[in-house]
Amino acid sequence: MTDCLFCKIAAKDIPASIVYETDRTLAFRDVNPQAPTHVLVVPKEHYENAAALAAADDGLADEVLKAAHAVAIREGIADEGYRLVFNTGPQAGQSVLHVHGHVLGGRSLTWPPG
Ligand code: 5GP
Repeated sequence: MTDCLFCKIAAKDIPASIVYETDRTLAFRDVNPQAPTHVLVVPKEHYENAAALAAADDGLADEVLKAAHAVAIREGIADEGYRLVFNTGPQAGQSVLHVHGHVLGGRSLTWPPG
């Protein structure tokens, strides 16, 4: 998609602090971190949200999930625990319409979220 921020980051047309990459996924630090570790994991291919990614049925959702866990291992938060969040749609506060998982950790996280 030509006018999508995360497509541009995935294509490396816009810089980001990349922490992990596979052929079909990219993970980069959130520009406005909400925890000591706050990394966004995206498929390089454009899907609007988690529902669209799940419907793709080509294993890509699985790769995104595995990439998120690989990020947690690399960031040293896999053992202590981390949160994986896919804001999906307006009521959840999704602001970038390219599916992304937030990997959050490095501090104690409260529940329920706001
Ligand atoms: P959402 O609210 O859609 O679930 O999350 C979008 C996230 O993207 C926010 O946490 C926001 O800080 C992050 N973000 C927005 N613009 C940029 C950017 O240009 N670069 C990076 N690395 N993160 C961004």
